[in-house]
Amino acid sequence: MSDQREPVTFDKWILDNRGTKNPVDPFKPYFWLAEKERQVSGETENTGTIFLTNMECPFHCLMCDLWKNTTDRPVPVGAIPAQIEWALEQMPNVKHLKLYNSGSFFDERAIPVADYPKIASLLNGFETVIVESHPKFINESCLQFRDMLKPELQIAIGLETVHPQILRKLNKHVTIDNFRDSVKFLARNGIRSRAFILLRPPYLTESEGIFWAQKSIDFAFSVGVECCIIIPVRAGNGAMEQLLGRGDFSLPKIESLETVLQYGIGLKAGRVFADTWDLGLFSTCPKCLEQRINRINAMNLNQEVVFREKCICEAIEI
Ligand code: SF4
Ligand SMILES: [Zn+2]
Repeated sequence: MSDQREPVTFDKWILDNRGTKNPVDPFKPYFWLAEKERQVSGETENTGTIFLTNMECPFHCLMCDLWKNTTDRPVPVGAIPAQIEWALEQMPNVKHLKLYNSGSFFDERAIPVADYPKIASLLNGFETVIVESHPKFINESCLQFRDMLKPELQIAIGLETVHPQILRKLNKHVTIDNFRDSVKFLARNGIRSRAFILLRPPYLTESEGIFWAQKSIDFAFSVGVECCIIIPVRAGNGAMEQLLGRGDFSLPKIESLETVLQYGIGLKAGRVFADTWDLGLFSTCPKCLEQRINRINAMNLNQEVVFREKCICEAIEI
C-alpha cells in the first residue's frame, strides 16, 4: 500500500482484503454484555452493552472489523427496537446502557428515525444511554433523539489518533477539527461525549504509539470530552494482517496499555478506561498477564493508579 493512494483505491484495497461476514439476524443483536463501570458520580455501577445488528457503516476504516456482524442493507423499521427488547429480557438489571451499532447511531440508514420514539420508550428505566457516532452524523438528530429520552444521553466518538498523517491513513474521513466541532456542538447542547483512542495504530513504533495515545487523550480532554477509552489495536480484518506481514503494524504491548491508562488517570481530567477485550493478545509473558489484567481492571474501576511488582520479563527486555 502506498501512502499516496487515493481514498477510493484505498477503500478498494481494504475491501479486497476482507473475509466473509458472519450470519446475522436483523431482529437479534449479535452480542450483549453487562459489566461494572465507573460513573461520572464516582459510583461503580452495572452497565449493559447491546451490540446491535445493523447495516454496515459507510466508512471503511483501515483498522475496523465491525463490518463482520453487519447487514448489507438497512434493517427494517421495528428491527432495532425488537433487538433492544430481546436483549433487555436476557440482561441482568443495569442502570446504564450502551447501544453500539457497528457504525453511527445517527446515520439514518443505520437507525431509522421512525424508530426513535419506540427506542426512547424502551430506555425509560435507565439513568444513562450511550450511543456511538462518527462526527459526520453529529447534528440536530442527536438533539431530536435526546429530547425523546428520559435518561441522560452520552455520545461516543472515535477520535482514534491526533497524529494527522496517521489519522488520514486510517481512512476514517475525519479530521481532528471535525472531532473538536462535534464535541463542542454536543457540549453546547448539554450532551457529554466520550472518545475512543487507539493505542498503536499502524505505521507507529511502540514508543510512538504510547506518545500519540497520550497526546490524543490530552486533546480529547482539552476540547471537552468527559471520558476516554483506550483501545489497543488488533488485527483481524484482513487489511491489518497485510500490514502485519509487511511490518507496517505490530500489536501493542499490554505494558503500553498500562502506561497510557496510568497517564490518562493521572491527568484527573475525566474518566479514562482501557478496553479489556482479549488482553492476552498483547502479552507474551504468562507470568504477569493475570496480574496486569487485574491491575487494568482495578484502575478502570477505581480511576486510581495501582502499584505493580516488576516481572522477570521486564528484566529480560533490559
Ligand atoms: S467509522 Fe467506526 S464503524 Fe465505521 S468503519 Fe470506521 S471504525 Fe468502523
Ligand atoms: Zn512478565
